[in-house]
Amino acid sequence: MFRLPPSTTGPDPSRVADLLDGLNAEQREAVVTPHSPLRILAGAGSGKTRVLTRRIAHRVVTDDVDPRHVLALTFTRKAAGELNSRLRALGLRDAVAAGTFHGIAYAQLRSRWADRNIKPPVLLDRKLGFLRRMLPPGSDHTQALDLAGEIEWAKARAITPDRYERAAASRKCSIPAARVATLFERYEEDKKRRRMVDFDDLLSLCRRAISADAEFSAAQRWRFRHFFVDEFQDVNPLQFSLLNAWMGDRDDLCVVGDPNQAIYAWNGADADYLVSFDRHFAGAQTVELRHNYRSTPEILNAAGAALGSGRLAGQQLIAERPSGPAPRLRAFRTDKDEAVGIARAVRDARGPGQRWSAQAVLVRTNAQIPLLEEACRAAGIPCRTRGGGLLALPEIKNALAGLESGRAPLATALVDLELMTETDDDQPAAEADRRANIGALVRLGHDLLAVDPGATAGSFVEWARASAATDQFGHGGDAVDILTFHAAKGLEWPVVHLAGIEDGLVPIGHAKRDGELAEERRLFYVACTRAENELRISWAEQRTFGTRSMNRSRSSWIDDVELANASPQFIAARTAANRARERSPLGPSRRAGRSAGPPDSALLGALKQWRTATAKGAKVPAYVIFADATLEAVAAAKPLTHNDLLRLSGIGPVKVERYGAALLEILREHTDT
Ligand code: ATP
Ligand code: MG
Repeated sequence: MFRLPPSTTGPDPSRVADLLDGLNAEQREAVVTPHSPLRILAGAGSGKTRVLTRRIAHRVVTDDVDPRHVLALTFTRKAAGELNSRLRALGLRDAVAAGTFHGIAYAQLRSRWADRNIKPPVLLDRKLGFLRRMLPPGSDHTQALDLAGEIEWAKARAITPDRYERAAASRKCSIPAARVATLFERYEEDKKRRRMVDFDDLLSLCRRAISADAEFSAAQRWRFRHFFVDEFQDVNPLQFSLLNAWMGDRDDLCVVGDPNQAIYAWNGADADYLVSFDRHFAGAQTVELRHNYRSTPEILNAAGAALGSGRLAGQQLIAERPSGPAPRLRAFRTDKDEAVGIARAVRDARGPGQRWSAQAVLVRTNAQIPLLEEACRAAGIPCRTRGGGLLALPEIKNALAGLESGRAPLATALVDLELMTETDDDQPAAEADRRANIGALVRLGHDLLAVDPGATAGSFVEWARASAATDQFGHGGDAVDILTFHAAKGLEWPVVHLAGIEDGLVPIGHAKRDGELAEERRLFYVACTRAENELRISWAEQRTFGTRSMNRSRSSWIDDVELANASPQFIAARTAANRARERSPLGPSRRAGRSAGPPDSALLGALKQWRTATAKGAKVPAYVIFADATLEAVAAAKPLTHNDLLRLSGIGPVKVERYGAALLEILREHTDT
């Protein structure tokens, strides 16, 4: 029988069917619609990343695009890796260029420098040390951190040192704005003099090269014709302008995002690019996804409640997963106890045959990580944290050292490395892990080759080290992930433990304005929506910062999470307590930690601690004992007698009878000192 040669048979229907398999109608529409520019808008876990990946694959398989002309900007390397492994599974040999804005820009610049025989500038990857030397001797670490934060924010918003002071009018910083502006200017000058560039410079240099160098811009625009961006709600003006430079006057762009997960405004990101997409790109169309495939309905309810009344857009997601346990809440006496308790819970949650990597422990700040890491290690639980990651592993250091001075083409060097990754069944597990890690390094090499086919082994090493500082590397070994909420964006695990959910961390203590608190709410939402089957939330009643121990109280936002899956009786009790709060002389707005002067925070802390213990003893939720506002009223009014207590709203005779003595005792303790 006569058969057409493969190139003219058109798309293989079975491959197309594969790509559309297991998608709902909205997702299918998002994959196949020929419209461009296209915005895919949806809540967490609704398949945005999956759809983006499939859309690229679908366009490739239907011969609509050549994968070599695709540029996919993803937030994590994991997503980039997933995209390419999916394309490989479909039998496509050519990888698409996928990575972060930084990674792609750096790769393009390196190839430009190599082509023009320009000695590459030194990449400043330790900004803090550099800045500290500019500050007066004896200034503390937080000043350098604050300064770095301000410089990064300004550069993300394309604000130059001379415009900083005006632009930063409403920013909070330990250094006065005029001084930041001077230091910022000096930083830029020092850097230039020493031929150094920082990470943000990579983006502006790349953008500038595109507008100033016609040959470079023609080459890049020839190369990349189809643009895809994940997590578009967190794009900043600098990245946006680079994206525009890459695109030129073309409009083949597809973005996906969720305005309720915008968590980088503090760092200069602007969700408006997503929200007002059609203003930025004329003629754009939108597809919305409404079904959630990641989490149980209980987790989804809790996460929706975590967002509070700040939900920005879109309807509540429809849960597709079967029902599971409600999120578990747990108090610990100290942060140390909490870490040990979580390590134990990790061990208990690991069913037979399950991997450690099915679990993650997520925290609000980097500072919380070491204690948790230590507790896991002490319990013999392998864990991995961000940063050090892949490049800190001995086998990877070794491999990189071997490549470092190499002028050999990267493509050749990768073939040698790949030989080291072959596995057989008799290997000990540790060796299999090592080989899997080398495999991850090889994948990274292919990522660079997709952007810069002429890369050498030596340039790969530099690029990999630079990427490691801004990106997250997943690697093969089986371990529990310990990450910040920010770093967990886009990822998912069957079991997620949220640690340190206390006022002062969730929301973070320095968040005071409405906008800042709303971003903290979204961050809490991001954290909750990482869980598939089980969500465990804990806090400590005492936490040590440096050498100081402080009393803590559980985040008031946990109340919302708890309520989301509560029984009608529970909700009735809660509503009554809330009404009492509304009537309280302090009013609902004077919540602890939010107002200018909370009544007496040590006293309030002690009252809340007592309430937690009492509630635990009585096996009822804390606010059944007393609402927050009632305790706040007590801490403000400092009553001396039972009758004084009765005058406060939210406290009736029954409560005075039951708890009056205990309250007055705590008050005496705190007013004596
Ligand atoms: P986030 O906002 O957190 O980045 P997302 O919208 O990008 O989430 P994905 O990570 O793409 O969501 O998908 C969430 C999970 O649901 C993944 O495990 C994905 O494989 C799965 N999933 C998505 N769509 C479907 C579907 N139609 N059927 C089954 N599983 C699906
Ligand atoms: Mg995603």
